[in-house]
Amino acid sequence: MIKAITGTKDILPSEISKWYFLESIVKKKLSNFNYKEIRTPIFENTTLFARGIGEGTDIVSKEMYTFLDRSGESITLRPELTASVVRAFIEHSLEKKQSLNKFFYIGPMFRQERPQAGRYRQFHQFGAEALGSNDPLLDAEMIIIAYDILSELGLKNLEVKINSLGVPSEREVYKNELKEYLKNHFSKLSEESKKRFNTNVLRIFDSKDERDIEIMKKAPLLINYLNEESLNHFEVVKSTLKNAKINFVVDSSLVRGLDYYTHTTFEIVSGSVGSQSALCGGGRYNGLIKELGGSDLPGVGFAAGMERILLACENENILNLPEDKIDLYIVTLDKSKSDISYKIAVELRRKNKIVELDYLSRSVKAQMREANKFNAKFVLFVGGEELNNNEVILKNMIDGTQENISLSDIDKLLYKLGE
Ligand code: ATP
Ligand code: MG
Repeated sequence: MIKAITGTKDILPSEISKWYFLESIVKKKLSNFNYKEIRTPIFENTTLFARGIGEGTDIVSKEMYTFLDRSGESITLRPELTASVVRAFIEHSLEKKQSLNKFFYIGPMFRQERPQAGRYRQFHQFGAEALGSNDPLLDAEMIIIAYDILSELGLKNLEVKINSLGVPSEREVYKNELKEYLKNHFSKLSEESKKRFNTNVLRIFDSKDERDIEIMKKAPLLINYLNEESLNHFEVVKSTLKNAKINFVVDSSLVRGLDYYTHTTFEIVSGSVGSQSALCGGGRYNGLIKELGGSDLPGVGFAAGMERILLACENENILNLPEDKIDLYIVTLDKSKSDISYKIAVELRRKNKIVELDYLSRSVKAQMREANKFNAKFVLFVGGEELNNNEVILKNMIDGTQENISLSDIDKLLYKLGE
C-alpha cells in the first residue's frame, strides 16, 4: 500500500471544521487590522530562501526540501513565507503603490525535520508582514494580532516573550564582547555551539544543551549594548503592549543570528503542548528587503504554526464547535420516483440549503439511518400515496411533527426549512 510521506498528514473531513474555524478567526482578525491576503507560489528559487532566511540557520542548512527540476534549476519548497512575500513585494514594486504594505498569508510550509507531536514535514502557518515602516507600533501590533487570535480561540496557558536585538552596529560590538566571554568557556561548549562560535555566535543562546545554557546564563547581554534610539524603540513596544493589556516577559535569550534582524523579536509559547511549545514567532527585519534586492525599507512580521495551535486547543479542550448538521434528507420511498427526489434536491441546493439523498438504492430504514447520521433537521418523504395528490411529507426531526406539502409549492418547503 502507498502511504502518505513521513511527517505529512491528511486533514480528514471529520477534522476540517476546526481548520475552518481557526482560518475564519485568522482572516477576520487580520482584516480588522487592515492586512490583505497574499498568495505566493509553493516553490521558489533556492537562492531566495538561502539569502532570505540565511545560510547559517537550521532551516537553510538542514531542513529545506531542495531539488533540481527537469531543466536543472534548483527549486525549494517554501519553508516559511517572509522571503516569498518580500520577493513579491519587490517584484511588483508594491512600495510605489502604497508606502506601507500590510500582508497576511495562510498556507502549507515544508521542512525536513524529525517528525514528532507538533513537528511535521508539511505543516501550516498563518502570518503577517508589514513592509515600509519602522514604527515600533507595528512591532507591538504583530504581537497584539497573534495574541488576540490565540485568546479568541480561548487559549489560556500563554506566555509572550520579547527581546530587542538593536541594530547591526550595536550587535558587532556586543558579539566581540560575547566572544571574549565565551573564549574562557570554549572547551566546555557543545560541539554545535563551538561551530556557532564562528558562524553565528548569538545563536548559542538557542542551544538546548544543559552545559551551554549554564554558560550562557552568565554571558553579557545584548540589551546592555543598545544605544538610546534602540532602547526607545523597545520602550514604545513595551508600553504599547501594556496599553493593549498584554502581559509579556523580556527574554534576553530570544535571538536571531542574522544581520537583517533588528530591534524586536518575540515568541508566544503555550504551556499546553509539551516540548514543541512555540506557537508563533516573529520580529523586525529592517535589512531584509535590501538584502533581497529591493530598496532599503524596513519590515516586521510573524508566523504561527496552525497544527500546534490546534493541538494546544485540543489539550485545553476549548474548541466547542457546533455539530455538523444538514437542512434536509430526502427519503425516497419508491425507487421509481427518485427523479422527483433529485429534482427537489437540486432546486433546494440552488437556494442554499444543505440537502442529501440516497444514491445507493437503500431501504427506507437505511435511508432514515443516514438522515440521523447527517443530523438532518428535516426529512422529506417522496413516493408514498400522497404523491398521487402531488404531495410529499415533511418531518421535523427535532419535534417530530409532520405535514403534507404540495410539490408545486417549493417556496413553502423553503420557508419551512428556514424555520
Ligand atoms: P522551532 O523552534 O519549534 O523549530 P522555529 O523557530 O523553527 O520553531 P519559525 O520558523 O519561527 O519556527 O516558525 C513559526 C512557527 O511555525 C513555530 O512557532 C511553530 O509553531 C511552527 N512550526 C515551525 N516548524 C514547524 C514544524 N516542522 N511543524 C509544525 N509547526 C512548525
Ligand atoms: Mg525549527
